[in-house]
Amino acid sequence: MILCPECGHPMKGTRVSSRGYYYKYYRCDRASDHFCNGKLIRYEKLDKAFAEYIHDAFQIDRIEIKEETNTKDIQREIKRCKSKIERLKDLYVDGDISKKKYKNDVGELNEKIYDLEQKLLSAENKISHDHIRENLKRLSEFWGLIDDNTKMESIRGVFDTITVEIQGNDVVITDHTLL
Ligand SMILES: [Zn+2]
Repeated sequence: MILCPECGHPMKGTRVSSRGYYYKYYRCDRASDHFCNGKLIRYEKLDKAFAEYIHDAFQIDRIEIKEETNTKDIQREIKRCKSKIERLKDLYVDGDISKKKYKNDVGELNEKIYDLEQKLLSAENKISHDHIRENLKRLSEFWGLIDDNTKMESIRGVFDTITVEIQGNDVVITDHTLL
């Protein structure tokens, strides 16, 4: 959601008609209750600010890119460790290996599984970052061709909050948090 530059409260889209035309604006949700004197912001100005921000975001890596890790390899390795543990169990039950060796080997394998699972988790996070970056890149490329609702939906799918500032005649996005 877009935060009011005056008070930080979420803003809402609204339409104002004038001489038979509708104009889209964003306005602080609290303005109607007179808690905030935030002005109406023209949708076109926000649209322009978004286009610039998203373009910069993937160009200067404001959205961090991370190297790719193949999660399938990690998953396969975890599976291999787990079946090794099963085999050790059988060997121990059959009396083919000592309790000491069984405990030691299973301990080592469990440690390895733990490390691999941590690796898997961070790899999955990296993928979601790449995914976000790809989405923003596509959005930026086709910005002029996408209708307003789709733009807003795409933005809502990536960002949790968007901080805007009014700078003279323009609206500038100064910060964001991701979902
Ligand atoms: Zn406000």
